[in-house]
Amino acid sequence: MVICAEKATPADRSSDRVLALSTGDPTMFEPYWRKMGDKGKVVIRGGDLMSYFSDMKNECWFLEPELRDAIRRLHRVVGNAVTDDRHVVAGTGSTQLFQALLYALTTPGGAEPVSVVSSAPYYSSYPEVVELLRSELYKWAGDANTFDKDGPYIEVVCSPNNPDGAVRQAVVNRGDQRQVIYDLAYYWPQYTAITGPADHDIMLFTSSKCTGHAGSRVGWAIVKDKDVAKKMIEYITISSIGVSKESQVRAAKIIGAVCDGCQGVGSDVESDNFFEYARDIMSKRWQKVRQALDHQNEYLNNLIKYPRQRCLFTGEFTESLPAYAWLKCKGGIEDCEEFFSGRGIVGKGGKRFGADPKFNRISLLCREEDFNLFVERLGAIARISNGL
Ligand code: PMP
Repeated sequence: MVICAEKATPADRSSDRVLALSTGDPTMFEPYWRKMGDKGKVVIRGGDLMSYFSDMKNECWFLEPELRDAIRRLHRVVGNAVTDDRHVVAGTGSTQLFQALLYALTTPGGAEPVSVVSSAPYYSSYPEVVELLRSELYKWAGDANTFDKDGPYIEVVCSPNNPDGAVRQAVVNRGDQRQVIYDLAYYWPQYTAITGPADHDIMLFTSSKCTGHAGSRVGWAIVKDKDVAKKMIEYITISSIGVSKESQVRAAKIIGAVCDGCQGVGSDVESDNFFEYARDIMSKRWQKVRQALDHQNEYLNNLIKYPRQRCLFTGEFTESLPAYAWLKCKGGIEDCEEFFSGRGIVGKGGKRFGADPKFNRISLLCREEDFNLFVERLGAIARISNGL
């Protein structure tokens, strides 16, 4: 009882609380899904979904057919990835699928571990995951821009990139020695222009950044090569005997609701279009961040400017609206993470992304009240440094 009472204690809402913005927890999307009510509701009874198995006719035996169909529909509706003649593999978040790929793209008994690289600044989880098990199959080899080792390698391309939002392509080009994983977690209309269906051999997506359902832990890979898909499935079979069915059924429902909203099914309310709603919020948030940093000042660089591109989904020319602010401290400040922490804003420092500690990544996907406090504090930092 005591534990329950403690758990029920409301989160710290005081205006001097520390803002935890170091992870990309996508709570920004909660109000949309609350508003959608039953359209996102799933009822699961005690006797439902009990078997390990989902679809024995499919190579990916643990993938719920309704999730598979919802994923294919979503990519058709948004136009951000080719799925025809591709294999869909589900995972416990795209984090598990990344691990499955490390296994699938390497061969036991090789002369030495396969190098895994990504252009700095790279998503901080890549080195963490690659190095965790001190594997004999693969090893982290750092920034792709300076990679010059012979032999097989895996390049991870995150586009739009976490942390800086840049649209990216592979930078190492060594023909048959290479395997490329495209992490397209943020290739959705709320973050960037959809310039065409991505058509890479290996693509990763996740519910976490698409619809905001990070807690469901559902990701998916779209894979051209059957043998790669098979080895990924083998990895997931051995490491977790599949993926939670409850999560898959919920993700399918949520994705279905997103597609219905985009296609105007069952509603004539424009704001039911999830991507328009989310894009609108992101756009307002970026305006506020830019306002707070309007004047160049002693401590902070202005933010990177991204070119406007035509989005085939919205039909409009749009700017990039990255999920993170990638800020650079100037002047004598060597450690931007520490500098911000001292002012009640906890981000993630550049070093974790293979970049200079003068950088700091701040998530903009937080709840409204945290975001408002963040821009207030950011504005105060900028004003103080301008001597205002
Ligand atoms: N890739 C990138 C670039 C991410 O930012 C994240 C989440 N922060 C992931 C993968 C992991 O997503 P998931 O929650 O599906 O494991």
